[in-house]
Amino acid sequence: MNDTDAADTDAPHARRLDAVRDRLRDGDADAIVLFPSTNLRYLTGHSEHPSERHFLLFVTADHEPVFLVPELSGEQVRAGTAVNDVRTWADDEGPAAVLASVADDLGLRRGADSDGRDGDGDDSDDGSHILVDDTMHARFTQDLREVLPGATFGLAGEVLADLRVIKDDAEIAALRHAGEAADAVIRELRADGDDVVGMTEADLARHIEDRLVANGGVGVSFETIVGSGPNGAMPHHTHGNRVIRASDPVVLDFGTRVDGYPSDQTRTLVFGDESPPEGFREVHRVVREAQDAAVDAVEPGVTTGEIDAAARGVIEEAGYGDEFVHRTGHGVGLDVHEEPYVVTGGERELEPGMVFSIEPGVYLSGEFGVRIEDLVVVTDDGCVRLNRTDRDWRTA
Ligand code: ZN
Ligand code: ZN
Repeated sequence: MNDTDAADTDAPHARRLDAVRDRLRDGDADAIVLFPSTNLRYLTGHSEHPSERHFLLFVTADHEPVFLVPELSGEQVRAGTAVNDVRTWADDEGPAAVLASVADDLGLRRGADSDGRDGDGDDSDDGSHILVDDTMHARFTQDLREVLPGATFGLAGEVLADLRVIKDDAEIAALRHAGEAADAVIRELRADGDDVVGMTEADLARHIEDRLVANGGVGVSFETIVGSGPNGAMPHHTHGNRVIRASDPVVLDFGTRVDGYPSDQTRTLVFGDESPPEGFREVHRVVREAQDAAVDAVEPGVTTGEIDAAARGVIEEAGYGDEFVHRTGHGVGLDVHEEPYVVTGGERELEPGMVFSIEPGVYLSGEFGVRIEDLVVVTDDGCVRLNRTDRDWRTA
């Protein structure tokens, strides 16, 4: 089913591999070694869950990239990626011999005779510098240390995060479509109105997840949050068996994926007779103003810290600063949380093509919570929201 996908997406993946090799040529490191991860998917289009079997991609400046994969995956990787050099190992022989020959062929075993473990800054042995996948299982990094005893190690994110943070048109289109699926579900929930009263949070979460798929999404991008009444005051509450009552504020934070790219938005709605608790209208108004202020502040050259300050300033001014207990937002791409992080004091400057959330919240312990979240794409002179549904709390 992925044949056409692979044909369509070879060009961006080849371009990304070239960009990584340019960075390596500039001297960042001798090789990047990836395993099944979003970094691997970003560079090759290949997606799978990590397992105990060695499944590694070596990218260097001077050689073609090399895949080292289990024999049972060889055909799939050859057909589905732009990497031509695919070497396999069989279960009855193990990966060690193939791993050693890949390291030799790529010229990575320099300094192998020296004591590479003293770590005292002695660089006379001139071993390779290897950037391993940030999420790689320790058992694989340990094997790399053994086959490359003279090498030093860093993280692939040092190179890849800077590439991944700027989204291309196809990535933005996928993010937009995922956002549209979530927006459609929010509209349906508003229309459900009174029908939501009496459901448990878990019932509503299941309903939301069904509707995300019905609206074109694939699965969920994170565990669905339905925080009703006092549960909404716990930002990491997902959903439980509490029954949603008329007038409860309900924090609804959910997402799905399109072409691997997630949506992530939050609305805080009140179902039923719509006479929310004391203080709710005021808090909702403040959070909404904070979110608008931060969105208005987005343009190239502004720092993430300034975006955070725009939202936080409104909430502090209203006297709820201590109840805004998290950062203002996070980048979104193949990972739901990635660079850039919109955090107090953040110094990263925004650039066109960055995509991140703006999601201020106020949490009144034992009472209710309010969070409003949209994803935005930075444009040449501002930003565009990827979530477009009404941000009001009323459902009628
Ligand atoms: Zn969210
Ligand atoms: Zn978020």
